[in-house]
Amino acid sequence: MIKSKSRRLQFVVDDLSGVELKRVLLNRQIMSVFLKSGNKTIADLCQITNSSIPTVNSSLSFLLKQGWVLNYGTTESRGGRKPAMYGINPKAGYTISIDLSRNYTSFAVYNLHSVLIDKVFSMPIGIDSKDIVLDRIKQSLNNLLIKLSLSRELILGVGIALPGLIDINSGVSYSYDLFNGEPVYRVFETLLELPCFIEHDTRAMALGEKWFGIAGDINNALLINVGTGIGLSMILNGELYRGKSGFAGEFGHINIVSDGQRCYCGKIGCLETVASGSYIANRANSIIGSKQVLDNPLTFSNVIERAVAGDILCIEIFEEASEYLAKGLSSVIHIFNPDAVIIGGEMSKGGEFIKSILDYKLSKYTINLMKNDTSILVSKLNEQAALLGMIPVVLSNMFCNEV
Ligand SMILES: [Zn+2]
Repeated sequence: MIKSKSRRLQFVVDDLSGVELKRVLLNRQIMSVFLKSGNKTIADLCQITNSSIPTVNSSLSFLLKQGWVLNYGTTESRGGRKPAMYGINPKAGYTISIDLSRNYTSFAVYNLHSVLIDKVFSMPIGIDSKDIVLDRIKQSLNNLLIKLSLSRELILGVGIALPGLIDINSGVSYSYDLFNGEPVYRVFETLLELPCFIEHDTRAMALGEKWFGIAGDINNALLINVGTGIGLSMILNGELYRGKSGFAGEFGHINIVSDGQRCYCGKIGCLETVASGSYIANRANSIIGSKQVLDNPLTFSNVIERAVAGDILCIEIFEEASEYLAKGLSSVIHIFNPDAVIIGGEMSKGGEFIKSILDYKLSKYTINLMKNDTSILVSKLNEQAALLGMIPVVLSNMFCNEV
């Protein structure tokens, strides 16, 4: 437990019992209602929380006094006195999201209305830079708080999205030795001296889409994250699916080429060896670099930009990679019959170009009836998808028990 005067401590129930426990649980429930459904009247709150007017009034006066909640004025009513609307005070606290990738790290600070404060800050080093990255994260976060004049007491938590195999129960990463086998959230809590929460990056993206993006009303969605690697997250019956230990969605490591290249995971012919962003960038550099002098090696983003602009060599590279992606995805569509497949991660920068190429390739490998039953969508959250997805991870831990 972090020893700080963080305002989140007002909602901790660990050592409480009896009346005090009931009181804090109701405060949490009311905050959760405001976060999920917006402003409400006292009558609404009584109905939703199944509590009496005096009980809700007592909770509300505490939340108003502590600055968590604001009175947003009156609403329209059919005759009689118009009831007042209450809702979250956006400046009552802030969450910090960190998207820790293999070769970059992004930071974002959000208020309690999930509005981005300032802009996303990124640095070109990530987990692959080993120990340096942890020092740089600490430094950058401190600089960010100074720049935004935010005291640490106002920070309700830090959510860190990261790739690889992470055990959801222990918090241990099995993919990166940067954390020395320690639970990742604990490494960050020691480093940043703030409450920290972790989630797999592709699942954070799916949460971002579910809360703030195009998956809000979709019951069954598959989100494919093509960036440095390839991940898949599944929203099934409206819930994020994690699997027994949190390892579900290692789509990049399904075998797609029987006598293919060795993958860094130790297996042969994984999807990542023929369709990941790293593979696409390397392939473009070897093909285009042999024909023209490049000032700098092409990144995955550069190859997407060139393909969208009509560069035939880059288009062909995407055609090749999409063939493998579609082969893999068609199997998942056959198994889950989703409402939608969402193209996320860096690949979503390709917009309609990527959508049309994948759509066509999926038609080759998917049963017609099932292909027509599945919408192909492109994420519009850009680099904020995983960052936004960490907001519910941090806040649900504080105000409710589900994400
Ligand atoms: Zn692999």
